[in-house]
Amino acid sequence: MGKITLHPIFNIQENLVLRRLLAVLTLAIGTGLLVIFASLKSDAILAKSLPSQQAHSLPPTLAQWQDSTNSGDYFSQVATTELGYLVWSQFPVRVYLARPQGISNQQAEAWVNDVLQTVQEWSIYLPLTIVEEPEVADIKILQKAPPLELSPDKKITRARSALTSYEIYTNNNLLLHRFTILLSPSQTGSYLIAAARHELGHALGIWGHSPLQTDALYFSQVRNSPNISPRDVNTLKRVYQQPTSLGWIISNY
Ligand SMILES: [Zn+2]
Repeated sequence: MGKITLHPIFNIQENLVLRRLLAVLTLAIGTGLLVIFASLKSDAILAKSLPSQQAHSLPPTLAQWQDSTNSGDYFSQVATTELGYLVWSQFPVRVYLARPQGISNQQAEAWVNDVLQTVQEWSIYLPLTIVEEPEVADIKILQKAPPLELSPDKKITRARSALTSYEIYTNNNLLLHRFTILLSPSQTGSYLIAAARHELGHALGIWGHSPLQTDALYFSQVRNSPNISPRDVNTLKRVYQQPTSLGWIISNY
């Protein structure tokens, strides 16, 4: 219990014509085991043209945050990437909720409302806004069964309740990222809320898990899922003080 396995994680390709960067990283939560899938294709030219990593100024919502309970954090569990920490620098972060298809109107409405609740919870700490068009979204949230997970011997598969991944792109020479969160249709009610809250934490920059089950980013689903804890916010605040290549201008060589 509590073991977190991290494999080397990056998959980055460059399309020289479009100067478009694409990186995909997948993080899965299952019952107690975190696996980050991975392959690395290094590209020396690309590495040279990446913006050097610098911290952005702390968003006012996090600057204002003070933990009167001194609960500490689990920042040491947050992974950095070849691009640095996965922080947002343009606010509000745009979130798109895909209305589920193939279920009743009432069920679809309940799904949207449950996920929306978690967006509102996090928006206390980082400005988030709901957008109606997936094309302009920074974070897309879909009701969709994540692909089955292969065990290390590639024989056994198991269902995952959620899957969060990101890709990298450029716009006006800015190096940017966007996330996709898949929430399994098997998750409803309090399980759905817990999963959405947890995965949004990853998408906002907490790219790792807490060892304590009183935190929303605890590595496993628990029966009584916690709200966003002071430790979650303390961790988020530390993440936003870290260097990153994201949100900075890519130089032309
Ligand atoms: Zn997780």
